[in-house]
Amino acid sequence: MGRVDKGVKCSVCGKEAARSLSGDKVRAAGLKVGSERRAYLCKEHYKEYKKKTKRDKQLEKWRYNP
Ligand SMILES: [Zn+2]
Repeated sequence: MGRVDKGVKCSVCGKEAARSLSGDKVRAAGLKVGSERRAYLCKEHYKEYKKKTKRDKQLEKWRYNP
């Protein structure tokens, strides 16, 4: 989890990857990363991933605490 080696490409757009995450989590967030077990994300797509997971958490909060 976390950092990636130099030269690894983002699974979404092919730019230099900044983060390595579980493929399942990234797919659950709605990013298109194929069926690999690990997904690599560039800064931009990691930001997008964070945004989407944050939104899900807020939705849960809203759902359980109306
Ligand atoms: Zn990307």
